[in-house]
Amino acid sequence: MLILGADVGVTNTKTVLVDRQGEIFATMNRPTLARKGRDAMIERLILTLKDTVKKAGANMKDVAGVGIGFAGPLDPGKGIVFNPPNLPEWFNVPLRDILTQKLNMPVSLDNDANLVALGEYWKGAGRGAKSLVCLTLGTGVGGGIVLNGKIWHGAGGIAGELGHMTVVRNGRRCGCGNRGCLEVYASSRGLVSRMQELLNRKKTVKYDKITPEGIGKQALSGDKLAKKAIRDTGITLGVAIASLVNILNPDVIVVGGGISKIGNLLLDPIREEVAKRAFPKAVEGLKIVKAELGDNAGALGAARSLMLSLNV
Ligand SMILES: [Zn+2]
Repeated sequence: MLILGADVGVTNTKTVLVDRQGEIFATMNRPTLARKGRDAMIERLILTLKDTVKKAGANMKDVAGVGIGFAGPLDPGKGIVFNPPNLPEWFNVPLRDILTQKLNMPVSLDNDANLVALGEYWKGAGRGAKSLVCLTLGTGVGGGIVLNGKIWHGAGGIAGELGHMTVVRNGRRCGCGNRGCLEVYASSRGLVSRMQELLNRKKTVKYDKITPEGIGKQALSGDKLAKKAIRDTGITLGVAIASLVNILNPDVIVVGGGISKIGNLLLDPIREEVAKRAFPKAVEGLKIVKAELGDNAGALGAARSLMLSLNV
């Protein structure tokens, strides 16, 4: 039995074809071409899924179903995409039913960040854990909560928006309309802003253009300001994660996304802050680790989510 998983991003779509054990037979990474409009984008997704199966030398009739990860907000229960901020043509689209009909097989739909968490739980840094919280540090901060092997969706499907925990009362304005959200401080943009603040204070400009990668490189080569910017970002993350640890008491916290590649320079201050703030009993068995699956996490999680929906 084979299962398809797709992580449909605004820019790129990643797919995997796996078996029930999660062994990968083919992967693809193609531009989503969102600018061509909604219907063309759906047709392109279908073609990419079919091409993934072809690439593995398999047949669509061997595929048990397709799991789809998509930008939220969406309703995983009803399979409807509401109104993702970067896809203006998408408004209340019943994507799951459209794909079920066109592909003639079971389809599941979930928030892309939730599926990254499920992918890491299944095949990545969370293997063997009972429960896991995953934070993905990119342009924003995505999150997913997996409890006893299942994504925690909450009453309205919104659970896991970890980037929008308030960490600074009356802090900087966030894209969600609130102030002081974790995302404003711990996203790649947050790290760059912190670095800019530190540079402004020193009134020395050493960098032509500040990028998260540049800060990482500078820090690894011993630059004090870059190290401090990363450390401050880690401390803010640690403050937020300590609350998650006290609330959920997970086995594993997975930190993924571009900035996480910096490694222990970021993870150590998180660990220190969590150890300081959370209950010792909750910290004892806790692992705070880097994500392992990279680009495939979301598509693998999507495949797993389809399996859970079919009970296989
Ligand atoms: Zn926010």
